[in-house]
Amino acid sequence: MTITYVVENGLYINMTNRCTNRCDFCIRKNGDGAYGSDSLWLEREPSKEEVWEAIVAAEPTSYCEIVFCGYGEPTCRLDDMLWVCGQIRATYPALKIRLNTNGHASLIYGEDVASRFAGCFDTVSISLNAPSAEEYDAICHSKYGLAAFDGMFSFAKAVKPYVPCVMFSVVRQFLSQTALEECRRLCDTVGVTLKIREYIS
Ligand code: SF4
Repeated sequence: MTITYVVENGLYINMTNRCTNRCDFCIRKNGDGAYGSDSLWLEREPSKEEVWEAIVAAEPTSYCEIVFCGYGEPTCRLDDMLWVCGQIRATYPALKIRLNTNGHASLIYGEDVASRFAGCFDTVSISLNAPSAEEYDAICHSKYGLAAFDGMFSFAKAVKPYVPCVMFSVVRQFLSQTALEECRRLCDTVGVTLKIREYIS
């Protein structure tokens, strides 16, 4: 069972295969792993203690940052992820921690959970994916339907006071030039940096 894997200088954490989206560009559609990792399909979700043990065993200080990402949406295990963050902060205070998320945490829990992120992350990278609810739904096929986009965008605004760096990301190959420009404008309205990434096939 692969709980940690390495991407460039980051130690990535794979806690769950659950997700609230079914994105057209999801790496899970193209194989079993990512960036040369072993299979990221989990035979079961590791306990938070097992995740922590796997991080310690991977010698995390050898990496530039810890990244909660994996083959699923990490905030589906919000309590456990924040507990692991607390362990990292207490044991390796100099380590940077990033979350890659679809931004649905508050939708998942039915309340604004943004304040719970305080002190846990240096960076939260949120998949914007599209400039409108309709375009988002066409690519991401969320279980929340058209509400997914607003939920994601509201979370981004709500979490900003609690995290030093919040950024949005889009996948270049899944947007028209017009849509890309609209995404840029949207980011400007909330003062969030836009990261344009390439499709991983
Ligand atoms: S949100 Fe992430 S894990 Fe979920 S389907 Fe989309 S790309 Fe895959």
